[in-house]
Amino acid sequence: MKLIFLGPPGAGKGTQAERIAERYRIAHISTGDMLRSEIRNATELGAAAKAYLDRGELVPDSVIIDMVKDRIRREDCKNGFLLDGFPRTVVQAEALQGFTDIDFAVNIDVPFDRLVARISGRRMCPDCGAAYHVSTYQASICQKCGATLYQRDDDKEETVANRLNVYTEKTAPLIAYYESKGKLFTVNGDADIDTVTEEIVKGLDA
Ligand code: AMP
Repeated sequence: MKLIFLGPPGAGKGTQAERIAERYRIAHISTGDMLRSEIRNATELGAAAKAYLDRGELVPDSVIIDMVKDRIRREDCKNGFLLDGFPRTVVQAEALQGFTDIDFAVNIDVPFDRLVARISGRRMCPDCGAAYHVSTYQASICQKCGATLYQRDDDKEETVANRLNVYTEKTAPLIAYYESKGKLFTVNGDADIDTVTEEIVKGLDA
């Protein structure tokens, strides 16, 4: 199974992607996590990507396309994969189509006015990538691995508005793109985490 998760920043893509990838035993590929790891490890790619992430802009298409192309050739993608955060532009979607066929694009829909609160309350684990929200989890330690949680720089208010604009302008057109190919299904992401997971599973199993 080869899946794409679409949705604005703060829709819960990462959380749902982790659950769905585990359930169907496919690789979870988060381009955002890959870039943050490159930045943490001070690689050449990380140094080039950092300024884009800091501003809430997209990393150039060519960089991210090569990164994903390499990643999905790896052994753990043999059973399939779930792309979380890619494609984010029509150019990326066209490139992806050139090197693999995806089965479904799952669009996690959340009303725009809910997103800022969802993003600014988010806290992340730097080691395992788990995400929490201050409204439901106030401790500073990751429940899964014990690392100290942090707030992503680009989750701070000054950058969030730009990320939402970039989403509307560059990524939202992918909803119509995959719909026209008969590959889209949309779930209501403005519900509790388990309900959203169940809705996705129901859609995929059907
Ligand atoms: P995310 O963790 O998915 O919210 O991604 C964080 C940041 O990484 C984005 O704001 C972009 O700067 C960059 N990024 C992640 N995926 C892509 C992509 N497919 N194309 C361009 N930039 C990306």
